[in-house]
Amino acid sequence: MAFTWPLLRVDLAAVEENTRRTVEKCATAGIKVWGVTKGMAAREGIARAMTRGGAEGLADSRVKNLAKLKAMKTGLPLALLRIPMQSELSDVVEYADCSLASAPVTILGLEKACAAAGRTHEVILMIDLGDLREGVWFEDREAIGRIADVLKGCSRVRCTGVGVNFGCFGGTLPTREKLLRLEDMGRELGRETGHPVETVSGGATSSLILLEEGTMPPGVNNLRIGEGILLGIDVTHSRAVPWLKQRAMVLEAEVVEVARKPSVPRGPAGSDAFGGKPVFEDRGPRLRAIAAIGRQDVRVEGLTPELEGVCILGASSDHMILDVEDCRLPPAPGDKLRFFPDYGAMLALATSPYVSFKMV
Ligand SMILES: *Cc1c(COP(=O)(O)O)cnc(C)c1O
Repeated sequence: MAFTWPLLRVDLAAVEENTRRTVEKCATAGIKVWGVTKGMAAREGIARAMTRGGAEGLADSRVKNLAKLKAMKTGLPLALLRIPMQSELSDVVEYADCSLASAPVTILGLEKACAAAGRTHEVILMIDLGDLREGVWFEDREAIGRIADVLKGCSRVRCTGVGVNFGCFGGTLPTREKLLRLEDMGRELGRETGHPVETVSGGATSSLILLEEGTMPPGVNNLRIGEGILLGIDVTHSRAVPWLKQRAMVLEAEVVEVARKPSVPRGPAGSDAFGGKPVFEDRGPRLRAIAAIGRQDVRVEGLTPELEGVCILGASSDHMILDVEDCRLPPAPGDKLRFFPDYGAMLALATSPYVSFKMV
C-alpha cells in the first residue's frame, strides 16, 4: 500500500540529544537514567536513539514491548515498569532483567518462574509515598519486614533497590522530603534482608525539577525518564523542560473537506458518537476543515496545531473537525496539517495501527 497519512514524524536526533542531555545532567548528581520506551510502543528507532544517547537501561510497561527490545540486542539491561501479572511471570523472567515489585505473592511467583527457566531476576521494591498507584504504603511499618522475609527465602530473585512513582494516579508532586523517606525505607530494607540496596529510583520526568533546583537527596541514584526524553515536557509540573528539545514529534493529518458551515448544529440534539452532549457557541458561519484522523488514532485534546488560526473543535472516531476561519491561508483538501502531540496523544498514535511513522 502507498505511503499513508496520518503520519507521525519523529526527529530521532532530537530524541538522542534529549537522552544525552538528561544523562549528563543526571550524572552530575550520580544518577543513572533508564530510557522509557512505552510512550512510543518500544519502536526500534526510539530504543536505538536512547541507546546512542547514553541511557543506562531501557524500560517499558509491557512485556510484549520488552520482547521487542530484547530482540534488538542493544546490550542495555531491560526493566519492566508495570508490576507483573501472575499470568506472565515466565515471560517476565525471560524478557526482563529487572521488574518492579510490590507484593510477596509476585516475588514468590518470580522465584518459581526463575527456577523453572534456570534464570535469575532483579526486583525493585516500589514504595507508595502517596500517589496511590503501586507500591507498599509508606506508613505500613510491617510491610518492609514482610517483604524482606520473602526475599530472604529467594535464591534467584534479588531485590536491588527501592523505587517510587509520582504524578501517575494521584498527581502527587515529588519532594525532597518524600525522596528522603524513600532512601530511609531502602536502608530499612537493606537492614532487614542483610543486603544493602544498590538502587534508589526516585521517579520519572517529574523528578527532574529537583535536580534543577538542587534539592535532590544524594542517595537517589536512578531515574526512569520517558516524557522528558521523547517530548521535552514535564506534564506533572505543566512545563516544558527548558534544557530539553520540545518538538521531536510532529503529527501530519490530511484535510478531506473545507466548507463554511454554521457554528451550531441544526435540529433537535441527541448525544454525539461517544455518548457526550456537546455544547456549541454561536459564532455565526465559520470556515471549517475536516482532517482524516479520529479518536481511534489520537487523543485530540492533546494536540496543538502548528498553523496559526487552526482551532480543534472536536472529533469522532475517524474525523477531526477544525475551525480554520482565522487562518491567513485556509487549507484545501489534500493539504497536510501539522500538530504537536502531548504524552497521551503520542501514546494513542503509537498504538494505532492506522498511523504511519517516519523516523529520521
Ligand atoms: C511510565 C513510567 C515512567 C516514565 O514516566 P515519564 O513521566 O514518561 O518519565 C517511569 N516509571 C514508571 C513506573 C512508569 O510506569
